[in-house]
Amino acid sequence: MTESNQNSCCSDGTDKVQNILNVLDIRILINEPLCTGCGLCAEKCSANAIFGKAKIPHFIDQNLCIKCYACYEVCEYDAIKFY
Ligand code: SF4
Ligand code: SF4
Repeated sequence: MTESNQNSCCSDGTDKVQNILNVLDIRILINEPLCTGCGLCAEKCSANAIFGKAKIPHFIDQNLCIKCYACYEVCEYDAIKFY
């Protein structure tokens, strides 16, 4: 089994992007001033890595995040950033 297959979660290019993010040690974080606390990202996070109460800025537990960037794709407030 290749490293790509071991880390694969999706049938598209998500696993390749995940590998790149890991190699470059890039984290996915929430920019609190932009976060409205809508909760949409937490609903979409398959790793249950996003926490926060309604209408309060959320945060990502880096120990749980698998860097799938689903949260980035659903956030309508441009609050998810790559660092
Ligand atoms: S989807 Fe965006 S605005 Fe909504 S809680 Fe997540 S980071 Fe905040
Ligand atoms: S990148 Fe994926 S695993 Fe990490 S917080 Fe966002 S949705 Fe959850």
